Amino acid sequence: MTEIRLWNTRTRAKDPLEPTVIPGRVSIYVCGPTVYDRAHLGNARPSVVFDVLNRLLRHTYGDANVTYVRNITDVEDKIIDRAAERGIGIDELTATTEAWYHQDMAALGVLPPDVEPHATAFIPQMIAMIETLVAQGHAYAAEGHVLFAVGSYADYGALSGRSVEDMIAGARVEVAPYKRDPMDFVLWKPSAPDQPGWDSPWGRGRPGWHIECSAMSHAILGDSFDIHGGGIDLQFPHHENEIAQSKCAHPEGAFARIWMHNEMLQVEGKKMSKSLGNFFTVRDLLDRGVPGEVIRFVFLSTHYRKPMDWTEKKRGEAEKRLTAWFRKTDGVEAAKVVPARVLAALADDLNTHLALTEMNSLSAPYLKAAMRLIGLPDAEEVDWFRYVESGGLAVGVNSEAATKIDELLARRSEAKNNRNFAEADRIRDALSEAGVVIKDVPGGSVWEFGMSVDLNKLEALK
Ligand code: AMP
Ligand code: ZN
Repeated sequence: MTEIRLWNTRTRAKDPLEPTVIPGRVSIYVCGPTVYDRAHLGNARPSVVFDVLNRLLRHTYGDANVTYVRNITDVEDKIIDRAAERGIGIDELTATTEAWYHQDMAALGVLPPDVEPHATAFIPQMIAMIETLVAQGHAYAAEGHVLFAVGSYADYGALSGRSVEDMIAGARVEVAPYKRDPMDFVLWKPSAPDQPGWDSPWGRGRPGWHIECSAMSHAILGDSFDIHGGGIDLQFPHHENEIAQSKCAHPEGAFARIWMHNEMLQVEGKKMSKSLGNFFTVRDLLDRGVPGEVIRFVFLSTHYRKPMDWTEKKRGEAEKRLTAWFRKTDGVEAAKVVPARVLAALADDLNTHLALTEMNSLSAPYLKAAMRLIGLPDAEEVDWFRYVESGGLAVGVNSEAATKIDELLARRSEAKNNRNFAEADRIRDALSEAGVVIKDVPGGSVWEFGMSVDLNKLEALK
């Protein structure tokens, strides 16, 4: 079995994934969307990143041995405000937004999680957890609110590596009169009669955001599980608060062993924001005719722990490369196994960038198998690549051209083995003259079409 290693924010190391809660079975919890509006492009990044992880885990441990939980936050102040603005009911807003989310993620090739809990379906579990925290002296009620007492948990700040003093200085904490300490955070708050609310020992109210994930992950996965994920913006305070709540309510459990965080997405080098006019949703792109698999490919071309820049240039390159891959694999039967080089790249902290590079040099059946593993559709399910204009595009990156290059490269490595370096160099120069970029890597070479590939020259090569 491939050994999977993942960068763990908690230990600040690439830790081996050793499913120990139940040996051979892996459980993941990923913070899902707050459903008040269309998912913007940044929201899609964690969905795609953890979808690749989900697929790798299923490939490695077997479908039945992976439990992937991604929640829906359907009670939150942003939801209340948006529903009021639009003059519609909260249920209508959340149901519509959730359906959009499912459609948009499906277009990106994201598999549905095994369990998709709604926060509103776990209110009794949240109330029970809050009662435990109050009984243990980790939380207190004040003016209809219940607050978590940050000072009662010695390890607060360990995940993000900050001291409580730094946090107060760095974060704009709400200094409410009912808080004993400015860092204390809300577990429960009162609801006005026109706001959604549930009866509780502290009056009619609703949960704070952080307690949702602690209660849902506990109800579904228990007090210890393998991986917890989300965007890096959630590391503090959301995940720090989840840890404090869960460890204090269930001190016997480990909560999450591995914490994974994806970096943020930017657009053309800038933070995506409405005021900069570079804010767009996944649906905006799909409606503009950008295929979902092209968006997915752009995402995968950057490692998830690096900030990722969405640019038109990258979109164009992804379209070109996918066109080539679809043409190469169209009508081809996929290999039964995924090449070890691709698996090894993914198992090394989800190095999707390297996996894509490795895939450039695979023959069609193996490429098709690898494409499936990373969640790209089969060529037969897609048709846009059949209509891509020739012109500047590396169309032509058809299976004939690919076969020809594979043959020439095989002859080149044979020449090298026979120490006929003149012939090996001649082949490399000729290919590069035709616009094929060749890179030698341990164990062989990989190729891709450069911007100026000339198919006539390629065809004439001997
Ligand atoms: P939200 O619906 O705001 O709770 O966010 C859902 C998910 O999207 C969370 O995991 C966030 O960390 C993630 N997220 C939000 N903005 C970005 C961004 N610009 N880049 C990457 N991930 C993001
Ligand atoms: Zn969460």
